[in-house]
Amino acid sequence: MALDDEHWMRHALILARNAWQQGEVPVGAVIVRDGKILAEGWNQPITLHDPSAHAEMLALRTAGQTVGNYRLPNTTLYVTLEPCLMCVGAMLHARVERVVFGAYDPKTGAAGSAFDLLQHPRHYHKVAAVQGGVLQEECAALLQAFFRERRAAAALAKPAP
Ligand SMILES: [Zn+2]
Repeated sequence: MALDDEHWMRHALILARNAWQQGEVPVGAVIVRDGKILAEGWNQPITLHDPSAHAEMLALRTAGQTVGNYRLPNTTLYVTLEPCLMCVGAMLHARVERVVFGAYDPKTGAAGSAFDLLQHPRHYHKVAAVQGGVLQEECAALLQAFFRERRAAAALAKPAP
C-alpha cells in the first residue's frame, strides 16, 4: 500500500456521497497522476440514463478529455468499491497503471472477487498493481447505510395492511 492511498480513498468516499445525494448507489472514483487529481467521478446510471455511468467510467472519460488521449499511463485509479467487468475493461483500454479499491464485491467484483480480470494473463496490457481493501470498512459501511436507508424508505412507502 502506498503512503497516500488512504488519503485518495477518503477523497473517493466524499465523491461517493454525491452519488447518494442523487439517489444512486454510493460509489466514488478519483484518478491521480503525479500526486494530483486528474479526474473525478461518482456513480450515476439512473441520473444519466446510462448503464455505463459507473464512477470509474465517468472518471476515465473526464481524464481522457482532460489529457486529450484515451490512454492514461502513469495513473492510479481509486474507487470505493471493487470494479465490475465493464470498468475493468475500460481501465485496461486506458492503460491505467495501478488500481486501488476499498470494499470487496463478492458478487460482481472483477478485480479478484467474482472474476480476476485486472491481471488476467491473456491481456496484452495488464494493470501493473492492484490493491484492494483500502479503507474497506468505511467504504462498505457507506454502501450498507445506503441500502439500509433505501429498505426503510421502501417499507414506509408500503400501504399499511
Ligand atoms: Zn463498473
